Amino acid sequence: MAQLKFVDVNKVYPNGYHAVHDFNMEIKDGEFICLVGDSGCGKSTTLRMIAGLEDITSGEFYIDGVLSNQKSSRDRGIAMVFQSYALYPHLTVYENLAFGLTLEGIDADVIEEKVQATAKILGLTDYLERFPRQLSGGQCQRVAVGRALIRKVNIFLMDEPLSNLDAKQRVTMRSEIKQIHRSVGATTIYVTHDQTEAMTMSDRIVVMKSGGYVQQIGTPFELYFYPQNLFVAGFIGEPPMNFIRGVVEDGKLKGYGYDLKPIVKNVKAIEGKEVVFAFRPEAVKLGKSKTAYTLNSVVELTELLGDTTNVYATVENEDGAKTNVILKVNPHDTPKMGSNFRFIVPYKSAYLFDSETEQIIENDIVRK
Ligand code: ADP
Repeated sequence: MAQLKFVDVNKVYPNGYHAVHDFNMEIKDGEFICLVGDSGCGKSTTLRMIAGLEDITSGEFYIDGVLSNQKSSRDRGIAMVFQSYALYPHLTVYENLAFGLTLEGIDADVIEEKVQATAKILGLTDYLERFPRQLSGGQCQRVAVGRALIRKVNIFLMDEPLSNLDAKQRVTMRSEIKQIHRSVGATTIYVTHDQTEAMTMSDRIVVMKSGGYVQQIGTPFELYFYPQNLFVAGFIGEPPMNFIRGVVEDGKLKGYGYDLKPIVKNVKAIEGKEVVFAFRPEAVKLGKSKTAYTLNSVVELTELLGDTTNVYATVENEDGAKTNVILKVNPHDTPKMGSNFRFIVPYKSAYLFDSETEQIIENDIVRK
């Protein structure tokens, strides 16, 4: 296992492109960390700097307290799994697993033992004599993971390892990788653009935005319930959080009449500001409450999913400006398309962001 620490790590490519800005983080022994964000936000670059495949332009990177910027890739105690499985097509599963060890000149007995043990963990024992073309995508990915696992490293790096699999296989492999992590315990850094993957697998998530800027680092719970800015609020969660933009007038959201005092520490400080009033689709309830906002909407479309209905609606302000929202309601309460739909959002489920800085406006709300 290994502890990692980044201090103001930056990456500027030779062509001048600044791909990662001031990356700061400490990763504990055995943690499972996901780097998540849209394509091109610098996730792979960060992973490749950890692997030693890419120079660190400035800043410090420590492995177990030792400055490791200049350490060669092979001395870092890492194994990497890529999106493309990179299996040797003409070698069997056994030979693919054994390949690295054979190159290192390890005894055949020891190799046999390690291959069998790794195959057992990954459920590949019955497939050792097969060739990659005789395996499913999920099995190929397991072999790729096995090849990394067999080397008994302290740091596991994975770059979108599930993106070539279909939806069902991805769900299965997600839990398999988690189980492997639990039994092996290696510090794992996992790159994905899929927020669901990040939410379900990580101890902590690093949300990155294009340009290589870290937006927030936290547990899945923290990111979901306490997003620090609009980007994280909109990125984590599916369907995404609803945003209603407006100006603060007399402590209220102008044109909507929502009293902002219950959700802001110092409402005077935001008078006249442009803000974003936000709530998650599933925060919506029916009925009346003194500790909730009442919103009126017009239903555009409903989608019955079984356990819930997604309601696509518009909320209109006094000036006629419309905002699209998505609401999750109990299927038994599904409103009719075209009808007026009144719902409530509890204060503890409402968020307010500064439109200009995109940061959350301070409050003391405990969201439970
Ligand atoms: P992600 O993994 O989040 O999709 P990457 O880390 O691969 O993003 O890339 C981040 C940014 O750096 C992208 O805009 C990409 O085009 C750019 N980039 C990646 N590799 C190089 C390179 N060798 N030279 C110049 N720019 C690069």
